[in-house]
Amino acid sequence: MKLLVTIDVEEEGLFSGNYSREESSASNVFELDLLDSVFLELNVRPTLLVSYQVANKDKALKKMFGLKDRWKAEIGAHLHHWNTPPIVFDPVPQPTPSELMSTDLLESKASSLFESLSDGQSRPTSFRMGRFNLGPKMFQVLERMGVKVDSSISPLRKSYGGPDHLMAPSDPYFPNPLDPREKGKSSVLEAPVSILPIFRGVDRRLDLLSKTRYFPERATEWLAMNVASIAIQPAWVNLNVAKAGVRLHKARGGKCLTIFFHSSELAPGMNPLNTTKEAVRTFIKNLRTFIQWLQARYDAQSYTLSELYPVYEQLRVTSKENQQD
Ligand SMILES: [Zn+2]
Repeated sequence: MKLLVTIDVEEEGLFSGNYSREESSASNVFELDLLDSVFLELNVRPTLLVSYQVANKDKALKKMFGLKDRWKAEIGAHLHHWNTPPIVFDPVPQPTPSELMSTDLLESKASSLFESLSDGQSRPTSFRMGRFNLGPKMFQVLERMGVKVDSSISPLRKSYGGPDHLMAPSDPYFPNPLDPREKGKSSVLEAPVSILPIFRGVDRRLDLLSKTRYFPERATEWLAMNVASIAIQPAWVNLNVAKAGVRLHKARGGKCLTIFFHSSELAPGMNPLNTTKEAVRTFIKNLRTFIQWLQARYDAQSYTLSELYPVYEQLRVTSKENQQD
């Protein structure tokens, strides 16, 4: 089993429901050192998906490059499109859905972010969209920016401004650029966060229900999240649930796990999940126990997002050759 541990390294405030376009504090990123006991001792190399508000603070950015060296981590890009320049006023509920922005504006925002994360020699080749708000426009921007691996698809999730990811695959795939929720021929590899449909076909049924007038958007969202899916995410669920998810994924032929959480979840009071130091300690302990279980039981091998690319590219070449034979 391939294991990707990805962290959205970002400013505080996201969880207050206030999507500020202003400069925001990012002091939470200095708590990331707490993960030494997971990454160094278990030999796990994470991917740090860094937002513009972090990248543009000298001390915070220096911290990122320090962690990159210490953990042999990868630095990728995380676009909060609501507070990454250029900022344009949109008279719609915030955050403005990315599909309502022009492709040019999205590309300018992505350029600001990628430039700020450049170390002078290279730019990020992995990416995650804020709020998983990835649709065809943003995906095509990623192709043009030279991104190798995206991780913005959250299967079985639907939220404001869509597009929903209800029926997206749970294991890595090359998407259709015109609809990145389905398989296609893009040059960008998609590594969705690990959330599975609890029964095969439940995603299709939810999708059908969501298109009827009897079923409001919020109801689909709630059912998808609380009834129809199982998240292999130690930040969200207890370990028995996460382990059950892994067994199910494996039984369905899954080969890869993409775990994610936010940097602010290491900072008590700066997120809604871990409000005390004790809660942070429990989260880190659970993460560590889960990864040890994956290593012992499934021989989990650590990959950063971009390291996954050649593996899947090779599989694609091999399958093409087999088709030609
Ligand atoms: Zn974010």
